[in-house]
Amino acid sequence: SPFSASVKAFADTQWQAGPIINGKVRTETEGKIYAVTAPYDRNENVGNVAFANADNVVEAIDVAAQAYPEWSQRPATERAQCLMRLADLLEENTGELVALCHREAGKTIQDSIDEIREAVDFCRFYADQAATEFVQPKTLTAFDGTTQQLSYQGRGVFACISPWNFPLAIFLGQVSAALAAGNTVVAKPAEQTSLIAFRAIEMMLEAGVPAGAIQFVPGTGQEVGAPLTSDLRIAGVAFTGSTETAQRINRNLAARDCEPVPFIAETGGQNAMIVDSTALPEQVVRDVVRSAFASAGQRCSALRVLFVQQDIADRIVGLIKGAMAELSVGRPELHSTDVGPVIDAAARDKLLTHIQSLKNQASLVAQAKLDASCQAGDFVAPTAFEIPSIDVLKNENFGPVLHIVRFKASELDQVIDQINNTGFGLTLGVHSRNERTYSHIERRARVGNCYINRDQVGAVVGVQPFGGQGLSGTGPKAGGPHYLYRFTQDVVKA
Ligand code: NAD
Repeated sequence: SPFSASVKAFADTQWQAGPIINGKVRTETEGKIYAVTAPYDRNENVGNVAFANADNVVEAIDVAAQAYPEWSQRPATERAQCLMRLADLLEENTGELVALCHREAGKTIQDSIDEIREAVDFCRFYADQAATEFVQPKTLTAFDGTTQQLSYQGRGVFACISPWNFPLAIFLGQVSAALAAGNTVVAKPAEQTSLIAFRAIEMMLEAGVPAGAIQFVPGTGQEVGAPLTSDLRIAGVAFTGSTETAQRINRNLAARDCEPVPFIAETGGQNAMIVDSTALPEQVVRDVVRSAFASAGQRCSALRVLFVQQDIADRIVGLIKGAMAELSVGRPELHSTDVGPVIDAAARDKLLTHIQSLKNQASLVAQAKLDASCQAGDFVAPTAFEIPSIDVLKNENFGPVLHIVRFKASELDQVIDQINNTGFGLTLGVHSRNERTYSHIERRARVGNCYINRDQVGAVVGVQPFGGQGLSGTGPKAGGPHYLYRFTQDVVKA
């Protein structure tokens, strides 16, 4: 792949990042310096990030608030042009971004390529939508023939807070939507992946987004995220991350003594797949392995709990064992690698604790092997257990751990209810060749994205929008037709 050459070309690059306020990079802040090392090899330095402090956050909001009137009054087509140019710049710099994504987030080369592609798609999708839907007011005609004009405008300063697992795509998805809709933005990336977000903001400025419209404040949730979402001037928050953090932000917003504002939260899941006895075993296992272990299980859509109908369970479990023995875990730049590292030592330790505790109360189905190269980084061996019930799982386990539950044909509705009762509602996979069965499951389940007779990986901007229900998020779905509207206010002239 030409991108393997890029990864080599940027193998020794050290990136530097810091807050960007009014177009100026602050490398000396009162905040901490965060040293970025590669998740697959902690001896490999990737760069340094000067974290923002609470004063930087206030300053960033000041600047964004001042810039709001000018940016929001620009025609939507002009705002869109800046984002279209950004998309072009991202494409021109794909080699560097792939290398950076791979080294900072530990993603495989293919995952890194997909990451940049999705970021580009988000920018073009929201830019295009704003340029088509927000330029002319819509004429609404009453029954008596009178007309009124409906138009959309920004809301003010939006806070965008993103996770590390899609460090460019989700980061830019939020920011480009907020900007396209006419808001100015204060963006906080996840602390683990500030370097790639910083490069994206540099390109955004180069693309012509005014220095006042986009502020960048890297740092921790506590030191930067919390003061950002407590500030009275924030007119909306776009957040993607864990359910616990969303709840914390929600409380922060509610405690503010000012008007309520939109809170777009895309959060965690307890994603299941239901397999009945009509399913094709080889196809099921291919999709299970990919859904549970791709990206080391660090996708919000990833499969966590596989429900297999009793009659077919031995066959499926046997095939899963075989497939897991073939999984290659290791350095993510190798084409032979199926599963790379997890994001950091804290994530690894949490997963290992979970695996250890299940070893005492469930039966181990299989555990993939780690080779010697894994010792330098934060790796977790893909592991599968049979568990008696989904109730054993209290939290989302964000990594390569699969849990299998057997059920009898007569228990199908109970299975769906148990999945619904977790309160999460992100993705559900179904493998069945019986149309009545999968239609029934699809209707009864409360999830945002349902995948039938395929893997449970992913989303496609514009055609397969993504987002959850209940504890998994507020909607509207990212990359769908309604997301952008949530960043606006609508005004009627009668
Ligand atoms: P996280 O909740 O730990 O962090 C997300 C972001 O919130 C980070 O930028 C973090 O610094 C910030 N944050 C933390 N505490 C904060 C606070 N008190 N106030 C404001 N901001 C704060 O999540 P993570 O570990 O970065 O990401 C993994 C999680 O994201 C998983 O739960 C995954 O399911 C979820 N996720 C969901 C989707 C989706 O579309 N539904 C997509 C990707 C990831």
